Amino acid sequence: MTISTSSEFAIEINGLTKNYGDKFAVAGIDLTVSKGEIFALLGPNGAGKTTTVEILEGFRNLSSGEIKVLGFDPATKGEAGRSWRNKIGIVLQSTTDAADLTVQETVEHFSHYYKNPRDVDEVIDEVGLREKAKEFARNLSGGQRRRLDVALGIIGSPELLFLDEPTTGFDPEARRAFWDLLNKLRSEGTTIFLTTHYLDEAEALADRVGVIANGKIIEIAPPATLGNRANAPARITWLENGKIQEIESINPTAEVQKLMSRLSGEIPQLQIIRPNLEDIYLRMIGENR
Ligand code: ATP
Repeated sequence: MTISTSSEFAIEINGLTKNYGDKFAVAGIDLTVSKGEIFALLGPNGAGKTTTVEILEGFRNLSSGEIKVLGFDPATKGEAGRSWRNKIGIVLQSTTDAADLTVQETVEHFSHYYKNPRDVDEVIDEVGLREKAKEFARNLSGGQRRRLDVALGIIGSPELLFLDEPTTGFDPEARRAFWDLLNKLRSEGTTIFLTTHYLDEAEALADRVGVIANGKIIEIAPPATLGNRANAPARITWLENGKIQEIESINPTAEVQKLMSRLSGEIPQLQIIRPNLEDIYLRMIGENR
C-alpha cells in the first residue's frame, strides 16, 4: 500500500512500527480511516492502541512507516502546524489536570484555543454537565471528569476526533448519552477514531473495528462480520424430555424446521443464540496470544 494524496481518507497508516529497545509496541500496521467514519480499535491491555493513537496525534514519534492525518504527517511540525491542530480533537487516556477553574470556565478557556469553537453552553449540555457547570473541575467525580475531557475534545469543532477509552468510568446512562453525542457528531461529518475495551460500545458506534494484539492488526471489519461472525455456528437450545437440549448449527433455520415437525408445533423454550462481538473478539485474541 502506498499513501495517496487524495482526500478520501482522514487517516492513512502504512507499515507503522514503534519499538522501545527490542520491544515492538506497534509491529507493522496498515490502516486507512475514511472521512466521516467511526473507527474503533480494540485490543487487550498492552496491545499497542494508545501508542498508535498518540503517534497519530503527534505526541509520540514513530520508529518506521508512513502516516498521514488529515493529509499531514503529524510529526512534521512545520507541515502540520496550528491549522492542522485546529481540526483535531483529542481525548487522551489520562484525564486532564484540573486547574482552579469551574467546569464552565474550563470549557470556556479551551474554546479560545480554536478558530471555530462550538458553543460552550451547548457542549456542557451535550456531555451532561449542566448541573455541574459552576462546580470546580477538581471536585468532579471520575466519570464527570471524563465527561469534561470529552467536552474539551469536542469544543474546537474538530474534523477528526481521537478518543482513547473515552467512557471509562461512565455510568450506563452517561455511556448511552455519549453514544448519542458521537452519533450526532458523525451525522455532522466528524471522523472519529476511538479505542475501547467495551465491545458493546464498538458494536453500537463503529462502522469498522480493527482488532489489535501484540502490536499487529488481526482483522479489520464491520462489527457484524468480524471474525466471520455472520457465518459462525449458532447454538440452538430447547426443552425436550424434561431437559434442555443443545445443538450447534450453521443452518439454524433448517434445524428449527426439523424440530417443528418432530415436536409438531411450538418448540418449548426455543432459543437461537448467535455469538456476540465479545465471543468473537475473545476467540480472536485467544488465537493470537
Ligand atoms: P491498554 O489497553 O492497557 O491501554 P494499549 O493497547 O493502549 O494498552 P500501549 O499503551 O500502546 O497499549 O502499550 C503497548 C506496549 O508498549 C506495552 O507493552 C507497553 O508496556 C509498551 N510501552 C508503551 N510505552 C512505552 C514506553 N514509553 N517505554 C517502554 N515501553 C512502552
